[in-house]
Amino acid sequence: MQTSAALGRIQPSATLAMTSRVMDLKAQGIDVIGLGAGEPDFDTPDFVKQAAVEAIQAGKTKYTNVDGTAELKDAVIAKFRRDNGLAFERNQISINVGGKHTLFNAMVATVDPGDEVVIPAPYWVSYPDVVQFAGGTPVFVEAGPEQQYKLRPEQLEAAITSRTKWVILNSPSNPTGAAYSRDELRALGDVLARHPDVWIFADDMYEHIVYDGFQFATIAQVCPELAERVLTVNGCSKAYAMTGWRIGFAAGVSWLIKAMAKLQSQSTSNPCSIAQAAAVAALTGDQSFLADRAAAFQRRRDLVVGMLNAIDGMTCPTPEGAFYVYPEFSGLIGKATPKGQKIDSDEAMVGYLLDEGRVAAVHGAAFGLSPAMRISYATSDDLLREACTRIQEACAALK
Ligand code: PLP
Repeated sequence: MQTSAALGRIQPSATLAMTSRVMDLKAQGIDVIGLGAGEPDFDTPDFVKQAAVEAIQAGKTKYTNVDGTAELKDAVIAKFRRDNGLAFERNQISINVGGKHTLFNAMVATVDPGDEVVIPAPYWVSYPDVVQFAGGTPVFVEAGPEQQYKLRPEQLEAAITSRTKWVILNSPSNPTGAAYSRDELRALGDVLARHPDVWIFADDMYEHIVYDGFQFATIAQVCPELAERVLTVNGCSKAYAMTGWRIGFAAGVSWLIKAMAKLQSQSTSNPCSIAQAAAVAALTGDQSFLADRAAAFQRRRDLVVGMLNAIDGMTCPTPEGAFYVYPEFSGLIGKATPKGQKIDSDEAMVGYLLDEGRVAAVHGAAFGLSPAMRISYATSDDLLREACTRIQEACAALK
């Protein structure tokens, strides 16, 4: 037997691969600092854990409605009203097994061979693979550091064809941390208003991790005239430090939500009943810790951006949100390591930093924009200082 053609269209996740490589090195007793993982180092809040314990004790251990309990759908509706000024009914809400599952459901439920999906690069690694798995064609639009890693309206206009089904907008972004202001979303919305057949997948997973007073906005809110064709996507993983619980969700038109539920009914069925109860607590409980955590991330961002920009040949834009930076280092390409190995790509650079600097990052090619790397600063200040010192030393040793 051979594996399927659909499987052949996707790659294993590069970020998860780096995470397991770091785990292997650590298990061998090697002192490596992992800056590859896409998850907060904070713990799930106690009140959320408590809600899960209570759910188990109350017997909430059975199948639930396929795309989420009524309680969680109501909590998600309240969240969208509170945080985003958006109003939805229960039949417009889909609860999935993490945000990645939301993406999978939406793409597989709607994309046919020949359909195009516009993906600004650099992008979260899963977008192109899931689109390709669904049979679609990703159309990449490069948004580099010279434009703060943000898609420009004229680029969006040029990328749309008669075959475009979706445009993916991710703000704040994984892997760059760049976030669109209201005005920037408005300008993109003006382009989309001229293309009524194009749908918008708004991935707001990092909504609550923003800095310097940045006012988060999402396109369905800024451009209500587009709302009928926006799927607004969010989840518990990043904001509530619940990556292992696997709860993502989306809001959009009821026929699309129903289509996603149909697919989910033949794949995962409902997300874990206990995780759903915990998510209700997360979304409806005291939200004040979110700002405290964002403040801690901001301090770390400043530390990392400052130390990376001190490196000759490296430029690190200051992101508005998420917990990643995406320094570019074209000034270091072509140099050689002390052992005489040429740094001819970002993969070579990341390999060198891992082997000689004992710091793990993810190479930019995995996110569609080189030469660069993604550094996750979701770890302690001390470890970040040590990691950036190691990167500085390794870069200084290049000739
Ligand atoms: N969207 C973005 C931009 C992400 O970075 C991630 C996770 O890395 C997700 C969605 C999915 O998160 P999860 O499936 O862990 O809920």
